Amino acid sequence: MTIDFDKILRAGSKAAESAKKTAAELADKGKKQVNLVNEQSKLARAQRQLGALVYSLHVNGEENQPLVEKYIQAVAEIEANIERLKTEADADVSDPEFTDVTGEEAHGRYCPQCGAEVEEDALFCNHCGAQL
Ligand SMILES: [Zn+2]
Repeated sequence: MTIDFDKILRAGSKAAESAKKTAAELADKGKKQVNLVNEQSKLARAQRQLGALVYSLHVNGEENQPLVEKYIQAVAEIEANIERLKTEADADVSDPEFTDVTGEEAHGRYCPQCGAEVEEDALFCNHCGAQL
């Protein structure tokens, strides 16, 4: 009776392969969870900023429809991202742009376009409307 080493090796590597795959899937799931949390906090901030902007425009009797629309579009995009993260479980949804939201500097932010001081977590410059 001969031992089929080749068969044993193949079975062994197959098991290792599926273990590797499971670990990768778990890591991917965790990354999606982080992205989802980041997007949800981003959504809350964008909605708050939009509200603050509309309120301050109203109080000052001003209008800045293009900037308001930028915020509305940003909110819609974040909402779409959240839906995508929730529903497309199998797709690769890692987006490096959104992975480090919580690591932002928490003080003294200025618009790179016009130099106006902006809120630390503002999506757009309230002065010139540039995306931050
Ligand atoms: Zn600006």
